Amino acid sequence: MNRVCVVGAGASGMMAAMYAARNGAYVTLFEVNDETGKKILRTGNGKCNFSNTNMSFEYYNADSPEFVKKALERFGFDDLMLCFSRLGLLIREKGGYLYPYCEQARAVRDVCEAELRSLCVKIRTNSYVNCIVRDEEGGFLISVEGQKEREHFDKVILACGGKAGLLKKDRQNGYDLLKTLGVTCTKLEPGLTKLDCQEGFLKALNGVRCEANVSLIYDNENIGSESGEVLFRENGVSGICIFNLSSYCMNKDIAAGRIKLSLDLLPGFDEESLTNFLNMRFLVNSDKTVFDFCKGLFADALNDLMIKQSDLDPNAEISKVGRERILEAILKMKDVTLFVTGKAGFESAQVTLGGVNTSDLTEFMEVKKIPGLFVVGELVNTDGPCGGYNLQWAFTSGAIAGEHACY
Ligand SMILES: Cc1cc2nc3c(=O)[nH]c(=O)nc-3n(C[C@H](O)[C@H](O)[C@H](O)COP(=O)(O)OP(=O)(O)OC[C@H]3O[C@@H](n4cnc5c(N)ncnc54)[C@H](O)[C@@H]3O)c2cc1C
Repeated sequence: MNRVCVVGAGASGMMAAMYAARNGAYVTLFEVNDETGKKILRTGNGKCNFSNTNMSFEYYNADSPEFVKKALERFGFDDLMLCFSRLGLLIREKGGYLYPYCEQARAVRDVCEAELRSLCVKIRTNSYVNCIVRDEEGGFLISVEGQKEREHFDKVILACGGKAGLLKKDRQNGYDLLKTLGVTCTKLEPGLTKLDCQEGFLKALNGVRCEANVSLIYDNENIGSESGEVLFRENGVSGICIFNLSSYCMNKDIAAGRIKLSLDLLPGFDEESLTNFLNMRFLVNSDKTVFDFCKGLFADALNDLMIKQSDLDPNAEISKVGRERILEAILKMKDVTLFVTGKAGFESAQVTLGGVNTSDLTEFMEVKKIPGLFVVGELVNTDGPCGGYNLQWAFTSGAIAGEHACY
C-alpha cells in the first residue's frame, strides 16, 4: 500500500487526502494549525462560496487554459456536487454562487474532516513540515518541526496554499519547500484585491457604494470589464468587480500611471434615456435648484461630486443653468476616471497570482521531473475570479492528485 503524505489541510489538501485514502492509500495529513481548514472558515464572509453553476475553464488564468479545461473535465462542478452530496452537505445556490445550505463555512470543513476520519486518514495538526528531501528509493523523507525522526513516504502532495490572506500568525512555506526540491515558481502577485487610487475627491466618497460598469484601461486599451457594486474608499476602490479587475494588473507597470479605471455609474442608462428623463423632469421641476434637482439620482456624496466636477452652482435654478449643462454633468458620471496607483498586498488579497506552471505538471498534478511529488491548490499557477472558482480549483486539483498518488 502506498504511503501518501499530504502537506496542508486546507481545501485542496483535505480533498487530496480523501481521494488518496478512498483509492487505497495509507494517508497522513499534516497541518501546522491546531485544526483543519482554517482558511475555509474565512471564505465567502464565513459562508464559503465553494463553486459556481457557471463553471468553465475560461474563467481561469493559467499558463495553459487547456490544462484547467482537462482538470475540470476530470473533476469539475458535477463531481464536486456529487462528492459533497455524498458527504451529506446540503447546498444552497444564490445567483449561481454555491454555499452550504446553512451558510456556515464550518459545514464544508466539517463534512470533509468527518470523511477523512472515517477513511482512517491520520490527521496530524500542530505539525509543521519544514523539510522534504527525496530518498534513494524514490520516495521522500519528511521532517516535522520539533520531531527528531524523519518519516518516509512514497508520495507527497504539497497543498500548502498561497500567500494571499495570511494572518500574522499564519505559517506557510510551500514555496520554500518547492524551492529546496528544485521546483520553480513564476513571479507571485496578490490577486482579487483592492486597487489604490489617489484622486482627491475620493475622500468625500469614503464608504459610498454604487452599482457600476467598470473598465480597466492599460495604455488606452481596455484590458478587462466587470459589472457590480463598487465600494469607494478614501484611498481606492474595492468590491467584487474591482477584485476581479485587480487580477488583470498582473505584470503591469502600475507605478508608471499607465493603468486607469473608467467607471460608468449609471449602467443601464444611455444618453437617449437620460435625455428623456431630463426632459420630463424639466417640465415639472424647472424651478428647483441644481442641488435639489439632483436628489434622487445618486447617493448624496456622488451628487456633490457630479455638481463639483461640472462646476455647477448647487444653488442656481436649473432653468437658468439649462438642460444641456445638466445633461453634460450627468453624462460625466458615465465615465469617471480613477488612475490606479497600486494594489493592496497579499494580506488583503484573496488569491495568489502565479505559482508552479501547469506546464511543469502532468495532467495528474504530478511534477514532471520529480515523480511522486504532486502540487495542488493555490501553489499552482491558476487563479479564478470571485464566485467560488478558487475553491473549486483547490478541490479539483486536490481530488485529481489524491486519486493518482495512490498508484
Ligand atoms: C478572506 C478570503 C476569502 C476567500 N473567499 C473565497 C470564496 O468565497 N470562494 C473561493 O472560491 N475562494 C475564496 N478564497 C480563496 C480560497 O480560500 C483559496 O484559493 C483556497 O483556500 C486555496 O486552497 P489551498 O488548499 O491551496 O490552500 P489553503 O486553504 O490556504 O490551505 C493550505 C493549508 O496548508 C497549511 N500549511 C501550509 N504550510 C504548511 C506546512 N509546511 N506544514 C503543515 N501545514 C502547512 C496551512 O496552514 C493551510 O491550512 C478566499 C480567500 C481569502 C483569503
